Amino acid sequence: MTKPVVAIVGRPNVGKSTLFNRILGRQAAVVDAEPGVTRDRLYQEVDWAGRRFVLVDTGGIESGAGEDMAGQVAGQARRAIAQAQLILYVLDGNAGLLEEDVQVAALLRRSGKPVLVVVNKVDDFNRPLPLGDFFRLGLGEPVPVSAAQGLNIGDLLDLVVAEMPPRADEPGGPLPVRIAVVGRPNVGKSSLVNAILGEDRVIVSDIPGTTRDAVDTLFRRDGREYVFIDTAGMRRKAKIRESIEHYSVLRAKKALERADLALVVLDFADGVTNQDQRIAGLAEEAGKGTIIVVNKWDLAEGTGVSAHRYQEEVRRELTFIGYAPVLCVSAVSGLGIPKILGSVETVMGEYRRQVPTSVLNRILHDAFMISPPPARKGKRLKLMYCTQVAAGPPAFLLFVNDPGLVSPGYRRYLENEVRRAMGFQGVPVRILFRRRESK
Ligand code: GDP
Ligand code: GDP
Repeated sequence: MTKPVVAIVGRPNVGKSTLFNRILGRQAAVVDAEPGVTRDRLYQEVDWAGRRFVLVDTGGIESGAGEDMAGQVAGQARRAIAQAQLILYVLDGNAGLLEEDVQVAALLRRSGKPVLVVVNKVDDFNRPLPLGDFFRLGLGEPVPVSAAQGLNIGDLLDLVVAEMPPRADEPGGPLPVRIAVVGRPNVGKSSLVNAILGEDRVIVSDIPGTTRDAVDTLFRRDGREYVFIDTAGMRRKAKIRESIEHYSVLRAKKALERADLALVVLDFADGVTNQDQRIAGLAEEAGKGTIIVVNKWDLAEGTGVSAHRYQEEVRRELTFIGYAPVLCVSAVSGLGIPKILGSVETVMGEYRRQVPTSVLNRILHDAFMISPPPARKGKRLKLMYCTQVAAGPPAFLLFVNDPGLVSPGYRRYLENEVRRAMGFQGVPVRILFRRRESK
């Protein structure tokens, strides 16, 4: 069983090395890490409350010559996102919040990886804690520590252990992610399922689905479990051809009901058809996490069409689901296949995320201030308070003076503002309004 990796990320001088050494209980080992400090000293195994993890000081790994500071920190963050199961984002409580901190936070948020905001240099816990600003990062409650004084480090480690993915051998681990692979006949759904399952390090088993002819495929990769829903016929080569398009829509609907996430498969050669729009619409209506997979990308070779341009085109044709990532892959050549499960993880992180009420209220009150709702019949929409009432998919309830005053355009604007602040890539966001009289 591989150990979870916990990465420390942050600007130079916020105290990453000091924190690293403090956690290792080896004060003065590598403080003021020079570029070129041996790599292995920046990866250390830690045991806390019986849980083992590998702590990485990403700041010490690379000097990043030629890049500005913000670029370096973003680079660290990307590496941490790729490698770590949990990220400790360290900030300087004395310096306060800088613009570039906010940018790095957005990057971390979009990754869907669990992040703890650690506010360092809080050397005196008897004074008011300088945390207010750091809530704005939208990454949950900041944890104050003093790496130099060793204050609150135990509490931080308790949180680290609590945030780590449960051990695979522990009961009550996370439920498998249930994935519906949907699309028109012949776009390559079966080929994709086989290509994903055909990768190394996958353990596969069949489980009965809910109806007589449905078979689901459970598989495990890197300690995580996934289920492909309704793979009857998909995994065998000689499958029964779906004769009518109508049937594939029915089947997609049924599979989506039981899924957390949809891979909506398109065929590069056909572009986006009406039927594709219809199927993507089902995923949106069902409130599922969604990734658009453009298959048969091998056929793009030599056509001069770039992935970027094609992705833009797909987004234009599927504007109503513009939040979904678009991946270009080939089940036949294997191109892009390994990216798919990474993207699934990212979207599922977003799908299940809870936004703290304080953060949400800040975002929406700001949105109302920046662009106030237009008056209707001499009355203007007023926001009292809002709260997240559901996750998976996220739903936000806004208490307002009169829900009748909400225009479709303003609802869209609010949704966009929530997305701009919080990401929610691949996830439909529901915004609900309820009347609350102002006193
Ligand atoms: P890094 O560049 O993020 O790895 O930061 P360092 O760990 O090298 O620390 C940068 C500076 O901040 C050093 O002078 C540390 O002594 C100081 N420092 C680190 N942690 C604390 C702390 O908790 N309180 C105070 N006051 N200073 C700290
Ligand atoms: P399904 O009906 O959606 O399950 O589609 P299949 O997986 O049966 O694939 C339909 C046809 O498309 C088959 O002839 C496949 O060989 C072909 N196909 C699937 N994936 C690719 C791909 O990535 N590139 C190319 N060129 N052909 C593909």
